[in-house]
Amino acid sequence: MHLGNYLGAVRNWADLQHSHQGVYCVVDLHALTTAPDPAELRDNTMATAALLLSAGIDPELSTLFAQSAVSEHAELAWLMECTAGFGELRRMTQFKDKSDRSEFVSAGLFTYPALQAADILLYDTDLVPVGDDQRQHVELCRDIAERFNHRYGETFVVPAHVIPKAGARVMDLQNPQDKMSKSMESPGTVGLLEEPESVARKFKRAVTDSDGDVRYDPESKPGVSNLLGILAAASGRPPESVAGDYSQYGPLKSDAADAVIELLSPVRERYHALSSDPAEIARLLAVGADKAREVASATLERARSNAGLIPRTHRWP
Ligand code: AMP
Repeated sequence: MHLGNYLGAVRNWADLQHSHQGVYCVVDLHALTTAPDPAELRDNTMATAALLLSAGIDPELSTLFAQSAVSEHAELAWLMECTAGFGELRRMTQFKDKSDRSEFVSAGLFTYPALQAADILLYDTDLVPVGDDQRQHVELCRDIAERFNHRYGETFVVPAHVIPKAGARVMDLQNPQDKMSKSMESPGTVGLLEEPESVARKFKRAVTDSDGDVRYDPESKPGVSNLLGILAAASGRPPESVAGDYSQYGPLKSDAADAVIELLSPVRERYHALSSDPAEIARLLAVGADKAREVASATLERARSNAGLIPRTHRWP
């Protein structure tokens, strides 16, 4: 996970769980679309769970589990694939980006948003608090839910997308016209567990521009605006007002770095403590999966029955 995931998504989840019932899963089935090494996938699933817990997801308040542990996700995904249009899936820009960069493009990568729709719809979800980059997928999920309801009668809650006001789009520090993404080797991506010295170095080297004017203008000043956006998201102020505090790029870079270091340090410390106890992480995930299954199984049964699949039990009719 990187700073973009944290500011655009995870931090809001931790806040929202005090006012909403949150359901969060580590999407290991989605990870399979790019055929990761099995040992690496296992380690990453555990590490992501530890990160979510360290970033403030409280298993007492929210439901946290591994996607593959609740088989209803894979099963509902088939119903979603039969409801989504081929043309709709083909228009997904994330698929186009990822498939252009891959030598082998799995069918799973293509139908990824159908599985994502299942993840959302299984829990009668009202709100999907994810970053701006997920707009198209959430829109597709809404379309699938509406089409299913229209075909088979009221089955799913049609969810709304909530985009955080600040941090919705954190850009790469070296290529500020691109969003910050998972490729951790990139000097423009700040990892959630990165040591303070490394974070400070990356901000110091962040790409800006040559006009020297500190102004929030993402179109013509993407680098400076990204730094302002990050500092704004970290300090809870609007980026335009943060811009008023600076007349030079140097202090802006070092204050943004300090704010990010302060924000991430407690997460890193909790992670190091928690990751030394994988049995506890596995236990928390199993408790979460049991909680998730209770809701997911009822929704799946409703969808199966409305679509005309016969009951799983021997009861008839
Ligand atoms: P992903 O890393 O694509 O699996 O995304 C996980 C979550 O982080 C989603 O809610 C995304 O919207 C959010 N996210 C990913 N990258 C960024 C970014 N650069 N800025 C803001 N939010 C992001």
